[in-house]
Amino acid sequence: MTEETPKLELRGVSRDFGETLALAPTDLTVRPGEFVSVVGPSGCGKSTMFNIVAGVLRPSLGSVLIDGRDVTGRAGYVGYMLQKDLLLPWRTVLDNIVLGALMKGGASRAQREEGVELATRYGLGDFINHYPSALSGGMRQRVALMRTLAMHRDVMLLDEPFGALDSQTRLAMQQWLLSVWKREKRTIVFVTHDIDEAIFLADRVVVMTPRPGRIHEIIDVPIERPRPVSSLTRPEFIGLKQRILETIYSNPSTGMKETDLHA
Ligand code: ADP
Repeated sequence: MTEETPKLELRGVSRDFGETLALAPTDLTVRPGEFVSVVGPSGCGKSTMFNIVAGVLRPSLGSVLIDGRDVTGRAGYVGYMLQKDLLLPWRTVLDNIVLGALMKGGASRAQREEGVELATRYGLGDFINHYPSALSGGMRQRVALMRTLAMHRDVMLLDEPFGALDSQTRLAMQQWLLSVWKREKRTIVFVTHDIDEAIFLADRVVVMTPRPGRIHEIIDVPIERPRPVSSLTRPEFIGLKQRILETIYSNPSTGMKETDLHA
């Protein structure tokens, strides 16, 4: 029997910046349709890894594969979304959703129809002709995610997409994201330094530690889905959180203080 080809694979990927080893040689395999969170304190190499997978930064060594194909250093194979929504203020919500197509010369009628359908399906239907300035922070991030979906990449990298939102909006957005993920069946790699968020969303949590940045541990999250908010206080959840906190605090290289976790 042949094993399922991983959707995304990092093989011995590392990156240095002069004297600084930003990311030590790293292996990671992500299955099709999996939701993986990457958590760790500032400086542990999360952005470096993200940029390498997105193809906007070349690794010093190693390779990145998507569907078994080497895409190292090549952009355009994954969809990605950042904390800053990067919406164009002078474009409507719909134009912002189909921006990928607009930038390639224009959105076809089918692409605009798809944009409307996505917006309607995921709670933005009444806002397609609004400008981003009329939207709340949470809604802007929904638009940014719709734009990422409209890029039609199986792998989506989300870098702290809810980092600037207040905690209640954030929780609502996490639930919303899980409903989108369930329906769209994409593979998601979600970078955060919020441990609750990492566990709540993911099938597996990749715990990174700094100096040098590396994967310290990969932890399964055996909590059934769908996950109601009450999962956050279940004993299994608390146990996982404790384990991750201990990994980060007990690592002498982090020199972590409690406050650093939310820096
Ligand atoms: P994180 O995203 O987890 O905060 P980064 O990937 O940004 O971590 O950084 C990992 C390490 O690499 C840090 O020590 C950081 O200072 C260093 N680093 C990142 N980018 C650069 C760069 N362009 N030049 C020099 N050092 C860098």
